[in-house]
Amino acid sequence: MSLNLPTPAVALAIGAHPDDVEFGCGATLAKWSAAGTVVHHVICTDGSKGSWDPATDTAALVVTRQAEQRAAAGALGATGRCVFLGWPDGELDSGLRQRWEVAYWIRELQPTVVLGHDPWKRYRLHPDHRHAGLLAVEGVVAARDPHFFPEQALPHHRPEALLLFEADEPDHVEDVTGFAAAKLAALHAHASQLLSTMQIDTAADPAEVARQRAAFDDRIVARLAEHGTLADVRQGERFKLMGDL
Ligand SMILES: [Zn+2]
Repeated sequence: MSLNLPTPAVALAIGAHPDDVEFGCGATLAKWSAAGTVVHHVICTDGSKGSWDPATDTAALVVTRQAEQRAAAGALGATGRCVFLGWPDGELDSGLRQRWEVAYWIRELQPTVVLGHDPWKRYRLHPDHRHAGLLAVEGVVAARDPHFFPEQALPHHRPEALLLFEADEPDHVEDVTGFAAAKLAALHAHASQLLSTMQIDTAADPAEVARQRAAFDDRIVARLAEHGTLADVRQGERFKLMGDL
């Protein structure tokens, strides 16, 4: 188990939906932001399926979730861009067109480290997470070699490392001790997801809402502690590290 990459100058986190990046690597991004890293987000889908209410205005939900994603990035201290590719939630593919877009943003933003979903996590249900993971991996390949997509007219760019969150076989930990609060603040910024993703029912009475929030926070902090034990640190986020790009 390796511990802590050198602080990157630029990090790019690629998530399927608004909130995935904060769950997967929010504390790591908060730590790096505090140390001066420019942190960018690329969100592949529009998040329009992120409600359990059949009557939801999904166009309005898309706008809401973009604002929430920007607020979450701000809560992490991220100073970079939030790019929304806008593919329909639940229908993301990892085809050439999507790979073109991810490669474009890697070339444009020139990250030292790219972070994304592990596309090879076994028994994963959500296809968007699998496809977004493949796009991070295959986008790096296309971005680094000059003969891929030459019409982009951008210099090719080879990141130094790729960190896969939700890793099937984690082999790397980032020590995030002290950054749990920033991760939690960023997760809470995704307010439209409190019920469906975080089991916080804001329609309940205030004491019950407070209890549900505390229970969610406890689960997140417990997971940071659990991942930290893999590398003998108090709080950690674990990844599969691909360093030979
Ligand atoms: Zn997701």
